[in-house]
Amino acid sequence: MKIDAHIHVTADAPQAIAFMEDLGIKFLNISVTHGDDWRDHYYRRFSALAENDQEHFAWCTSFDLPRFPDPAYAERVIAGLDEDFSNRAVACKIWKNIGMEVLDENGCFVQIDHPIFRPILDYMEREGRTMIAHLGEPLACWQPLDPGNPHYGYYSQYPEWHLYGRSDFPSHTEIIAARDRILERHPKLRFVGAHLGSLEHDVTEVADRFDRYPNFAVDVSARLGDLMCQDPEKVRAFFLKYPDRILFGTDIVMPDPFSSLDPDTVTLRCEEMRQVYDTYFQYFETDRLTTHVGQSSTGINLPESVLNRFYLENASAFYPDILAG
Ligand SMILES: [Zn+2]
Repeated sequence: MKIDAHIHVTADAPQAIAFMEDLGIKFLNISVTHGDDWRDHYYRRFSALAENDQEHFAWCTSFDLPRFPDPAYAERVIAGLDEDFSNRAVACKIWKNIGMEVLDENGCFVQIDHPIFRPILDYMEREGRTMIAHLGEPLACWQPLDPGNPHYGYYSQYPEWHLYGRSDFPSHTEIIAARDRILERHPKLRFVGAHLGSLEHDVTEVADRFDRYPNFAVDVSARLGDLMCQDPEKVRAFFLKYPDRILFGTDIVMPDPFSSLDPDTVTLRCEEMRQVYDTYFQYFETDRLTTHVGQSSTGINLPESVLNRFYLENASAFYPDILAG
Protein backbone atom coordinates (compact mmCIF):
# COMPACT_ATOMS: atom_id res chain seq x y z
CA MET A 1 0.00 0.00 0.00
CA LYS A 2 1.04 3.58 -0.72
CA ILE A 3 -0.08 6.99 0.48
CA ASP A 4 -0.07 9.98 -1.83
CA ALA A 5 0.64 12.42 0.99
CA HIS A 6 0.08 15.54 -1.09
CA ILE A 7 -2.82 15.65 -3.51
CA HIS A 8 -5.93 17.75 -4.25
CA VAL A 9 -8.37 15.37 -5.93
CA THR A 10 -12.09 15.02 -5.19
CA ALA A 11 -12.21 11.42 -6.43
CA ASP A 12 -15.78 10.69 -5.31
CA ALA A 13 -16.78 8.26 -8.07
CA PRO A 14 -16.76 4.44 -7.99
CA GLN A 15 -14.48 4.35 -11.03
CA ALA A 16 -11.88 6.45 -9.24
CA ILE A 17 -12.09 4.29 -6.12
CA ALA A 18 -11.48 1.22 -8.32
CA PHE A 19 -8.45 3.00 -9.79
CA MET A 20 -7.09 3.76 -6.31
CA GLU A 21 -7.62 0.18 -5.18
CA ASP A 22 -5.94 -1.15 -8.28
CA LEU A 23 -2.96 1.09 -7.53
CA GLY A 24 -3.14 0.33 -3.81
CA ILE A 25 -3.11 4.02 -2.90
CA LYS A 26 -4.75 6.26 -0.30
CA PHE A 27 -5.03 10.04 -0.83
CA LEU A 28 -4.17 12.74 1.66
CA ASN A 29 -6.21 15.61 0.23
CA ILE A 30 -4.81 18.96 1.26
CA SER A 31 -6.83 22.17 1.67
CA VAL A 32 -5.19 25.32 0.34
CA THR A 33 -6.16 28.90 1.20
CA HIS A 34 -6.22 29.80 -2.47
CA GLY A 35 -8.87 32.46 -3.03
CA ASP A 36 -11.63 33.62 -0.69
CA ASP A 37 -13.74 30.58 -1.58
CA TRP A 38 -11.08 28.06 -0.58
CA ARG A 39 -13.43 26.45 1.91
CA ASP A 40 -15.85 25.59 -0.89
CA HIS A 41 -13.16 24.48 -3.30
CA TYR A 42 -11.08 22.34 -1.02
CA TYR A 43 -11.94 22.26 2.65
CA ARG A 44 -15.57 21.10 2.52
CA ARG A 45 -15.01 18.61 -0.28
CA PHE A 46 -11.93 17.04 1.26
CA SER A 47 -13.30 16.83 4.79
CA ALA A 48 -16.55 15.27 3.52
CA LEU A 49 -14.64 12.70 1.45
CA ALA A 50 -12.53 11.68 4.42
CA GLU A 51 -15.61 11.53 6.61
CA ASN A 52 -17.51 9.30 4.19
CA ASP A 53 -14.67 7.04 3.10
CA GLN A 54 -11.82 6.82 5.58
CA GLU A 55 -10.42 3.78 3.85
CA HIS A 56 -9.41 5.75 0.77
CA PHE A 57 -9.17 9.36 1.90
CA ALA A 58 -7.58 11.45 4.61
CA TRP A 59 -7.67 15.23 4.72
CA CYS A 60 -5.59 18.19 5.79
CA THR A 61 -7.18 21.44 6.94
CA SER A 62 -5.95 25.04 6.76
CA PHE A 63 -7.04 28.38 8.23
CA ASP A 64 -8.06 31.84 7.01
CA LEU A 65 -5.31 34.37 6.47
CA PRO A 66 -4.96 37.21 8.97
CA ARG A 67 -6.24 40.70 8.27
CA PHE A 68 -4.66 43.37 10.40
CA PRO A 69 -5.60 44.43 12.97
CA ASP A 70 -7.46 41.41 14.33
CA PRO A 71 -6.72 40.76 18.01
CA ALA A 72 -8.99 37.69 18.15
CA TYR A 73 -7.35 36.07 15.11
CA ALA A 74 -5.27 33.33 16.74
CA GLU A 75 -8.03 32.39 19.15
CA ARG A 76 -10.50 32.01 16.29
CA VAL A 77 -8.06 29.99 14.18
CA ILE A 78 -7.28 27.65 17.08
CA ALA A 79 -10.98 27.05 17.75
CA GLY A 80 -11.44 26.15 14.08
CA LEU A 81 -8.42 23.85 14.06
CA ASP A 82 -9.63 22.13 17.20
CA GLU A 83 -12.87 21.31 15.45
CA ASP A 84 -11.09 20.15 12.28
CA PHE A 85 -8.73 17.87 14.18
CA SER A 86 -11.66 16.33 16.01
CA ASN A 87 -13.17 15.89 12.55
CA ARG A 88 -10.19 13.69 11.56
CA ALA A 89 -7.95 16.26 9.85
CA VAL A 90 -4.46 14.72 9.99
CA ALA A 91 -2.57 17.99 9.53
CA CYS A 92 -2.85 21.71 8.84
CA LYS A 93 -1.45 23.31 5.72
CA ILE A 94 -0.01 26.78 5.30
CA TRP A 95 0.65 28.20 1.87
CA LYS A 96 3.01 30.58 0.13
CA ASN A 97 0.60 33.52 0.46
CA ILE A 98 2.08 33.71 3.98
CA GLY A 99 5.41 35.32 3.19
CA MET A 100 4.64 36.44 -0.35
CA GLU A 101 1.19 38.05 -0.31
CA VAL A 102 -0.25 38.82 3.15
CA LEU A 103 0.60 42.33 4.38
CA ASP A 104 0.52 43.70 7.92
CA GLU A 105 -0.96 47.05 8.98
CA ASN A 106 2.22 48.79 7.80
CA GLY A 107 2.11 47.22 4.35
CA CYS A 108 5.01 44.86 5.13
CA PHE A 109 5.00 41.22 4.06
CA VAL A 110 4.06 38.89 6.89
CA GLN A 111 6.37 35.92 7.34
CA ILE A 112 5.50 32.74 9.22
CA ASP A 113 7.57 33.84 12.23
CA HIS A 114 5.31 36.92 12.66
CA PRO A 115 3.96 37.05 16.25
CA ILE A 116 0.37 36.69 15.03
CA PHE A 117 1.03 33.01 14.17
CA ARG A 118 2.91 32.17 17.33
CA PRO A 119 -0.08 31.02 19.45
CA ILE A 120 -1.21 28.84 16.53
CA LEU A 121 2.19 27.18 16.21
CA ASP A 122 2.37 26.79 20.01
CA TYR A 123 -1.03 25.12 19.95
CA MET A 124 -0.04 22.73 17.13
CA GLU A 125 3.17 21.81 18.92
CA ARG A 126 1.46 21.34 22.28
CA GLU A 127 -1.31 19.20 20.81
CA GLY A 128 1.07 17.03 18.80
CA ARG A 129 -0.34 18.11 15.43
CA THR A 130 1.46 18.24 12.09
CA MET A 131 2.01 21.33 9.96
CA ILE A 132 2.43 21.04 6.21
CA ALA A 133 4.09 24.14 4.83
CA HIS A 134 4.47 25.35 1.32
CA LEU A 135 6.39 28.52 2.12
CA GLY A 136 8.35 30.30 -0.57
CA GLU A 137 8.83 29.08 -4.08
CA PRO A 138 11.54 27.38 -6.13
CA LEU A 139 14.57 29.59 -6.76
CA ALA A 140 13.39 29.88 -10.38
CA CYS A 141 10.70 32.25 -9.08
CA TRP A 142 13.37 34.93 -8.55
CA GLN A 143 15.36 34.13 -11.70
CA PRO A 144 14.80 35.01 -15.37
CA LEU A 145 12.35 32.68 -17.15
CA ASP A 146 14.34 29.73 -18.49
CA PRO A 147 12.68 27.20 -20.83
CA GLY A 148 15.14 24.58 -19.53
CA ASN A 149 13.90 24.94 -15.94
CA PRO A 150 11.23 22.51 -14.64
CA HIS A 151 9.16 25.49 -13.41
CA TYR A 152 9.13 27.35 -16.73
CA GLY A 153 5.57 26.20 -17.45
CA TYR A 154 4.21 27.40 -14.10
CA TYR A 155 5.80 30.85 -14.15
CA SER A 156 4.82 31.38 -17.78
CA GLN A 157 1.23 30.52 -16.86
CA TYR A 158 1.14 32.46 -13.56
CA PRO A 159 3.34 35.55 -14.08
CA GLU A 160 1.88 37.06 -10.89
CA TRP A 161 3.98 34.55 -8.95
CA HIS A 162 7.16 35.18 -10.97
CA LEU A 163 9.29 37.65 -9.01
CA TYR A 164 12.37 38.12 -11.16
CA GLY A 165 13.43 41.76 -10.86
CA ARG A 166 10.80 42.46 -8.17
CA SER A 167 12.88 43.93 -5.37
CA ASP A 168 9.61 44.94 -3.67
CA PHE A 169 9.01 41.29 -2.71
CA PRO A 170 10.82 39.20 -0.10
CA SER A 171 13.69 37.06 -1.33
CA HIS A 172 13.86 33.26 -1.23
CA THR A 173 16.50 33.55 1.50
CA GLU A 174 14.27 35.72 3.74
CA ILE A 175 11.29 33.38 3.44
CA ILE A 176 13.31 30.23 4.11
CA ALA A 177 15.09 31.90 7.04
CA ALA A 178 11.70 32.74 8.63
CA ARG A 179 10.62 29.10 8.14
CA ASP A 180 13.87 27.87 9.67
CA ARG A 181 13.37 30.16 12.67
CA ILE A 182 10.04 28.53 13.50
CA LEU A 183 11.57 25.05 13.14
CA GLU A 184 14.13 26.22 15.67
CA ARG A 185 11.54 27.74 17.98
CA HIS A 186 9.14 24.77 17.89
CA PRO A 187 11.39 21.72 18.18
CA LYS A 188 8.47 19.36 18.91
CA LEU A 189 6.19 20.56 16.14
CA ARG A 190 6.00 17.88 13.44
CA PHE A 191 6.65 19.84 10.28
CA VAL A 192 6.51 18.68 6.66
CA GLY A 193 7.99 21.01 4.05
CA ALA A 194 5.90 20.52 0.92
CA HIS A 195 7.77 20.41 -2.39
CA LEU A 196 11.11 19.48 -0.81
CA GLY A 197 10.71 22.40 1.58
CA SER A 198 11.22 24.93 -1.26
CA LEU A 199 14.86 23.83 -1.40
CA GLU A 200 14.20 21.65 -4.42
CA HIS A 201 17.15 23.01 -6.38
CA ASP A 202 19.65 21.08 -4.23
CA VAL A 203 19.07 18.08 -1.98
CA THR A 204 22.17 19.14 -0.01
CA GLU A 205 20.18 22.16 1.23
CA VAL A 206 17.37 19.88 2.39
CA ALA A 207 19.89 17.56 4.09
CA ASP A 208 21.31 20.56 5.93
CA ARG A 209 17.83 21.27 7.44
CA PHE A 210 17.33 17.58 8.30
CA ASP A 211 20.58 17.71 10.28
CA ARG A 212 19.55 20.90 12.08
CA TYR A 213 15.85 20.16 12.71
CA PRO A 214 14.90 16.61 13.76
CA ASN A 215 11.20 17.57 13.54
CA PHE A 216 11.46 18.36 9.82
CA ALA A 217 10.49 16.16 6.88
CA VAL A 218 9.68 16.96 3.25
CA ASP A 219 7.41 15.65 0.54
CA VAL A 220 8.54 15.38 -3.08
CA SER A 221 5.22 16.54 -4.53
CA ALA A 222 5.46 18.37 -7.87
CA ARG A 223 9.25 18.35 -7.61
CA LEU A 224 10.20 15.22 -9.54
CA GLY A 225 11.62 17.49 -12.26
CA ASP A 226 13.90 19.19 -9.72
CA LEU A 227 15.23 15.84 -8.50
CA MET A 228 15.79 14.86 -12.13
CA CYS A 229 17.92 17.98 -12.67
CA GLN A 230 20.37 16.64 -10.07
CA ASP A 231 22.89 13.81 -10.29
CA PRO A 232 20.91 10.58 -9.74
CA GLU A 233 23.70 9.18 -7.57
CA LYS A 234 23.52 12.24 -5.33
CA VAL A 235 19.73 12.02 -5.06
CA ARG A 236 19.93 8.30 -4.31
CA ALA A 237 22.50 8.90 -1.56
CA PHE A 238 20.18 11.58 -0.09
CA PHE A 239 17.29 9.09 0.10
CA LEU A 240 19.53 6.39 1.60
CA LYS A 241 20.88 8.77 4.24
CA TYR A 242 17.46 10.12 5.28
CA PRO A 243 15.06 7.22 4.65
CA ASP A 244 12.66 8.32 7.41
CA ARG A 245 12.35 12.00 6.41
CA ILE A 246 11.05 11.99 2.82
CA LEU A 247 7.37 11.46 1.92
CA PHE A 248 5.82 10.49 -1.37
CA GLY A 249 3.28 12.84 -2.95
CA THR A 250 2.40 14.10 -6.42
CA ASP A 251 0.41 17.34 -6.01
CA ILE A 252 -2.11 16.26 -8.65
CA VAL A 253 -4.80 18.99 -8.68
CA MET A 254 -8.38 17.96 -9.66
CA PRO A 255 -10.68 19.66 -7.15
CA ASP A 256 -13.90 19.36 -9.22
CA PRO A 257 -15.89 16.47 -7.73
CA PHE A 258 -15.62 13.41 -9.97
CA SER A 259 -19.27 12.72 -9.12
CA SER A 260 -20.15 15.85 -11.14
CA LEU A 261 -18.30 14.62 -14.25
CA ASP A 262 -19.49 12.23 -16.94
CA PRO A 263 -17.95 8.72 -16.85
CA ASP A 264 -15.70 9.33 -19.88
CA THR A 265 -14.15 12.35 -18.21
CA VAL A 266 -13.57 10.37 -15.03
CA THR A 267 -11.83 7.68 -17.11
CA LEU A 268 -9.64 10.36 -18.63
CA ARG A 269 -8.79 11.83 -15.20
CA CYS A 270 -7.82 8.37 -13.94
CA GLU A 271 -5.62 7.82 -17.00
CA GLU A 272 -3.94 11.18 -16.40
CA MET A 273 -3.29 10.23 -12.78
CA ARG A 274 -1.97 6.82 -13.85
CA GLN A 275 0.59 8.49 -16.12
CA VAL A 276 1.81 10.72 -13.31
CA TYR A 277 2.15 7.76 -10.93
CA ASP A 278 3.91 5.62 -13.54
CA THR A 279 6.50 8.36 -14.06
CA TYR A 280 7.15 8.84 -10.34
CA PHE A 281 7.31 5.08 -9.69
CA GLN A 282 9.70 4.52 -12.60
CA TYR A 283 12.12 7.19 -11.33
CA PHE A 284 12.15 5.96 -7.73
CA GLU A 285 11.95 2.20 -8.35
CA THR A 286 14.07 1.58 -11.46
CA ASP A 287 17.24 2.76 -13.15
CA ARG A 288 15.47 3.39 -16.44
CA LEU A 289 15.67 6.71 -18.26
CA THR A 290 12.66 8.78 -17.16
CA THR A 291 11.36 11.99 -18.74
CA HIS A 292 9.16 14.53 -16.98
CA VAL A 293 8.49 18.29 -17.39
CA GLY A 294 11.26 18.55 -19.98
CA GLN A 295 13.85 16.82 -17.77
CA SER A 296 15.41 13.41 -18.32
CA SER A 297 17.29 11.30 -15.81
CA THR A 298 17.99 7.69 -15.03
CA GLY A 299 15.92 6.46 -12.11
CA ILE A 300 17.41 6.12 -8.61
CA ASN A 301 16.36 2.49 -8.10
CA LEU A 302 15.72 2.70 -4.35
CA PRO A 303 15.83 -0.50 -2.28
CA GLU A 304 12.54 -2.00 -1.10
CA SER A 305 13.03 -0.97 2.55
CA VAL A 306 13.52 2.70 1.62
CA LEU A 307 10.58 2.60 -0.78
CA ASN A 308 8.31 1.26 1.97
CA ARG A 309 9.17 4.17 4.19
CA PHE A 310 8.89 6.68 1.39
CA TYR A 311 5.53 5.40 0.14
CA LEU A 312 3.88 4.52 3.45
CA GLU A 313 5.67 4.44 6.78
CA ASN A 314 6.89 8.06 6.80
CA ALA A 315 3.41 9.36 6.05
CA SER A 316 2.05 7.30 8.90
CA ALA A 317 4.81 8.61 11.22
CA PHE A 318 4.26 12.27 10.33
CA TYR A 319 0.46 11.97 10.05
CA PRO A 320 -0.20 9.50 12.87
CA ASP A 321 -3.93 9.00 12.20
CA ILE A 322 -3.67 8.65 8.46
CA LEU A 323 -4.25 4.90 8.35
CA ALA A 324 -7.28 5.00 10.64
CA GLY A 325 -10.43 3.81 8.97
ZN1 LIG B 1 -0.31 21.16 -3.44
